[in-house]
Amino acid sequence: MRFSALFAPTTKEIPKDALLKSHRYMLQGGYLQQMGSGLYHFLPLGHKVLSKIRALIKEVMDSYGAQECTLGFVVPASLWQESGRFEQYGKELLSFLDRKNNPCVLSPTHEEAITQIIKAHVKSYKQLPLNLYQTHTKFRDEIRPRFGLMRAREFVMKDAYSFHASTECLDREFERMHAAYSEIFTKLGLDFRAVEADSGAIGGSKSKEFVVLAECGEDSVIVCQNCAYAANIEIAKRAKRVEPDNVPKAHFAKFHTPNTPTIEKLSAFFKVPPYFLMKAVIKKARLHEGARPVVFFLRGDDQLEETKALNAFNRSTQQNALELEEMSAKEIAQLGLPVGYIGAYGIKHLVPDIEVIFDIDLQEADCLICGANEVDQHFVGVDLSSFANLNYQDIAQTRPEDACPECQGALSAQRSIEVGHIFKLGNKYSKSMEATYLDKEGQTQYFEMGCYGIGVTRLMSAILEQNSDEKGCVWSKASAPFEVVVVVANPKDSALEALGAQIYEELKGAGIDVLLDDRPDRFGAKMADFELIGCSHALIIGKQALEGQVELITRQGLSKRIIAREAIVSTLLEARS
Ligand code: ATP
Ligand code: MG
Repeated sequence: MRFSALFAPTTKEIPKDALLKSHRYMLQGGYLQQMGSGLYHFLPLGHKVLSKIRALIKEVMDSYGAQECTLGFVVPASLWQESGRFEQYGKELLSFLDRKNNPCVLSPTHEEAITQIIKAHVKSYKQLPLNLYQTHTKFRDEIRPRFGLMRAREFVMKDAYSFHASTECLDREFERMHAAYSEIFTKLGLDFRAVEADSGAIGGSKSKEFVVLAECGEDSVIVCQNCAYAANIEIAKRAKRVEPDNVPKAHFAKFHTPNTPTIEKLSAFFKVPPYFLMKAVIKKARLHEGARPVVFFLRGDDQLEETKALNAFNRSTQQNALELEEMSAKEIAQLGLPVGYIGAYGIKHLVPDIEVIFDIDLQEADCLICGANEVDQHFVGVDLSSFANLNYQDIAQTRPEDACPECQGALSAQRSIEVGHIFKLGNKYSKSMEATYLDKEGQTQYFEMGCYGIGVTRLMSAILEQNSDEKGCVWSKASAPFEVVVVVANPKDSALEALGAQIYEELKGAGIDVLLDDRPDRFGAKMADFELIGCSHALIIGKQALEGQVELITRQGLSKRIIAREAIVSTLLEARS
């Protein structure tokens, strides 16, 4: 490709709303054009990088025996009604009526569509297992589209779905896809981790996320410094906390505690560590119809983890709440509860409908102080072990200062970008959509299912976040738009221009993905574009080239070296490995 013919509208102007370097450089480098909120066009450079990543993913998925297909993007809403997700998925699901008034959805994910295909064609265990995948457009009407391709509304996902006649077979495929994903992200040159994760709206029994560690990430992962434990903070467990000194030993009694509605004030009042104070967090669980109040009790220096709390509520009540909403002080007061002094004693009498959940770290806890459900009053000497049948669940957010649940080792928290997610779905979709096959004994069985997603366009952002410098895009070898750009320092010098063109042809002939910067621009401007666009190397054809010496600059680190004219092809081929 000759740069003079390439449509890559680069600009020095820094886009206003691009907070992340990946977003900024892809706009400035002429990779993308924004069309609307969370909506992007992929220009030739963006398309090229996307195609390289797609091809790499395809190579690995095919090698694991998965078969590529392309599912329809617009799906009849009836399929989503069948699985029960039409109401459950929430506002991210964009639906509309076609001209015949049939409701349709723009697919945010494809479990329903694939289950319908398998239901129609797979009748016997002999046709199993199967793993089908596609790399295709998804639409999610995200509440806060931002950071360019990182959180878009229209984006490209690689989604694979597997079908099995036994849970053992599903378990095996889950591990194989784990291996496939590790291979893909390694080949893409990413520093990544596989972490335990919540299954969210997709559902199922077990899931793992593949995350790229980066400061700008929207997620947090907890990683053990000592063993392999790693989990998204949304579900990360921890060892039982160690009791601090200064235990407030007291007989059970009500205590006048004027003006102590916060943990800070209460801790100062009693001169007791917040560990021994039991705080109440009140939320509203949003149900299909209406909402239900729920109170979570935690140690004073712990924070409620919303995902754990939602899962705990659904587990405890066998309900399917979509989210936990904040309750205003006014709403809490309307329940008859005194904000800042809420405690466990008698709360069910005050609010019979309320669900009460205690954090697991409070199990058997004594010497606690908690609200007395009266303004300016607390109970001291509270011993939870004297109560039977309290509902203990893991609802507190794991903190870096907590200990590893597996080995008691030290933990750390790191920001991360989710680039992939693999799920064991079991028979969630096959049951709701009545998708069955006949087993060896001729019995009707529901399919066991797994699903495996990769955010293909988000990967472009993640690669740039992990590699780029202050000058522009730095891609990994496998993702860079060109392996090398041949830059003729002075195109007015016809001997140099002819040599540049000759080297360009030679490189093309050797199967190297090369760009020839033949534009009549200043050398400095061409180098700035090399740094902004981020081809893996630049080969500078300057005066010395006529004497057989060229300069090779590697984009990663911008290191320079002089190589002999004859060694150009071999050096660039070696640089691939
Ligand atoms: P997130 O928690 O970031 O919203 P998710 O858990 O809802 O993502 P999945 O349903 O697991 O996403 O989808 C599979 C993959 O698709 C994710 O791992 C992610 O890489 C990618 N993805 C999801 N939402 C978006 C989005 N809005 N923009 C770009 N990529 C996305
Ligand atoms: Mg996910």
